[in-house]
Amino acid sequence: MQNEYITFTIGKQKNIALIAHDGKKQELIGWCEKNKEILKKHFLCGTGTTARMITDKTGLPVKGYNSGPLGGDQQIGAKIVEGQIDFVIFFSDPLTAQPHDPDVKALLRIAQVYDIPIANNKATADFLITSSYMDAEYDHQVVNFRKKIQERAEVL
Ligand code: PGA
Repeated sequence: MQNEYITFTIGKQKNIALIAHDGKKQELIGWCEKNKEILKKHFLCGTGTTARMITDKTGLPVKGYNSGPLGGDQQIGAKIVEGQIDFVIFFSDPLTAQPHDPDVKALLRIAQVYDIPIANNKATADFLITSSYMDAEYDHQVVNFRKKIQERAEVL
């Protein structure tokens, strides 16, 4: 009998994705600068332009994926599915229409499915980054997709 949920562990050293819409890039860069000493201890990645700008302005190493409108958010979502990203800081702009809005929604959804901590504004990011879990392992429960596939294949 397979379990309904599987325990995944977010390691002490986290794989953090950093994303900011254009209107929020300066805010995220400032936030990264302020939290540089903490961020240094983790693995950082981000959408193309955001990653480049953070590295240029703060010196933090940030692996860049494609630019958001060109599929970067989808790449980050896929990495969450593969268990390679376990923490997301995403300063989205609620006042500007985005051409890649469906991709943004997809990323938020997949982060929710995989129970990934995700901050969509500075206050949430401040609360997350000062959490005692930043310096510890964290076990969480994720839907057992293998079991789901087996059940669906039998029933459908
Ligand atoms: P960018 O993408 O970092 O390449 O600008 C971010 C986004 O708009 O999702």
